[in-house]
Amino acid sequence: MGKGKLIIISAPSGCGKSTIINELIKNSDLKLEFSISATTREPRRGEKNGVNYYFMSVDDFRRAIDNNQLIEYEEVYPGRFYGTPRSEIERIRNMGRNVILDIDVMGGINVKHLFGDDALSIFIQPPSIDTLRQRLETRGTDTPEAIAQRVEKASFEIAQADKFDKVVVNNRLDVAVNETEELIKAFINS
Ligand code: ADP
Ligand code: 5GP
Repeated sequence: MGKGKLIIISAPSGCGKSTIINELIKNSDLKLEFSISATTREPRRGEKNGVNYYFMSVDDFRRAIDNNQLIEYEEVYPGRFYGTPRSEIERIRNMGRNVILDIDVMGGINVKHLFGDDALSIFIQPPSIDTLRQRLETRGTDTPEAIAQRVEKASFEIAQADKFDKVVVNNRLDVAVNETEELIKAFINS
């Protein structure tokens, strides 16, 4: 049994990463397991510890950094840390399954550097900044301040798209999911 590969899905917040990943995971041929990140942000309604994230205090997060338990971490928003636990990647790869990561743009670039040819990095691009803002407003999970913060950050992040192996525009969801599926199939069979 070979070791699993890594599929990195990055994009500005609100571009549809979680939506696309949820669809991809349903396709059992891809043998994908979601890498559960650690974060210091508060759970949103419906989110569960150990399912969506490992929710932790800033002190616990700092301890995880000090103990070398995270392969990468970012302060994605001021005071809000997100990081990828080493144990998640090892657990999933050792089962011979492929790891799918939902991580921010800088984190995506870092993980690609760490894993090289064992990783495929995919950038999900919004059709436009206006569409992105509308989607965040429709999702209704963030305050107006948080939405403004996310939209502002998006312009910088979109400029990083050329550092990824592949770019998928999320205009129509079903088209974006199909396209991403084909990229993953080609990669895991290569
Ligand atoms: P992310 O995980 O990148 O922050 P989400 O997956 O939460 O983004 O998507 C943000 C919002 O946009 C959600 O309300 C989602 O239902 C919606 N959405 C995602 N993809 C599309 C699409 N192609 N067309 C319209 N709305 C979409
Ligand atoms: P949210 O608060 O919307 O769940 O996530 C905010 C951002 O943090 C998203 O862009 C998401 O991809 C990113 N993120 C989630 N987990 C990680 C992680 O482990 N590392 C990094 N660098 N970013 C992450």
